Amino acid sequence: MGPAGEPVGSAAALAAIADEIRGCTRCPLAARRTRTVPGEGNPLSDVLLVGEGPGQREDATGRPFVGPAGRLLDELLHSIGWERDDVYVTNVVKCRPPGNRDPEPGEIATCASYLERQERALEPAVVVSLGRHSLQRYLPGARIGAVHGRLRRSYIGQHVFPMYHPAAALHQASLRETLFRDIRGLPAALLAAREALASEVERSVASEEAVARADEHDRSADDIEQMTLF
Ligand code: SF4
Repeated sequence: MGPAGEPVGSAAALAAIADEIRGCTRCPLAARRTRTVPGEGNPLSDVLLVGEGPGQREDATGRPFVGPAGRLLDELLHSIGWERDDVYVTNVVKCRPPGNRDPEPGEIATCASYLERQERALEPAVVVSLGRHSLQRYLPGARIGAVHGRLRRSYIGQHVFPMYHPAAALHQASLRETLFRDIRGLPAALLAAREALASEVERSVASEEAVARADEHDRSADDIEQMTLF
């Protein structure tokens, strides 16, 4: 087990979280679901896509983004040379809200611990928020129209790349163009996030080394002082 009690290794940790989700009855969405939809993809990916909640096809199959919005998501990924297997995909709630209504704040809050644990297991360099409910988790108060398609930092320092939800583009043709334009910026955003994280690690190692050198210096000074006492 790792420090948070999860199995060691992202694949094992994600599988354990998915098992728990399958038995979850913590919120009212459990009552009317057919299957839970924990998420799926590459457990070693640096990119986590977070949508809103499962729809009818997802509820029937237990897999995320398998309906028309999922096909558009695949087209978007293909447009930058990526496949589903290059990313990990999940939602803010893992059970279908009846009639595809928006998930309620209480349901999102109750389900949030699963997403937090998935984030910790994956440690993605970039989270792509799909739609406004996912956006609110990472950038509370932000308006999707103002922030989509550009890399941001969340309030806890995650790199977030906000995008519209593919389902929205199924009903509004102009959003389709926006989605294809935005996703073209994702590979560069991923590189920028990786570079920022690497330089943060370098700075933190340098600062730990400086503290260790200062401690060593203090210990040497103490030793000299003690020697002069005898
Ligand atoms: S939506 Fe989340 S919290 Fe609610 S029952 Fe499903 S897995 Fe549990």
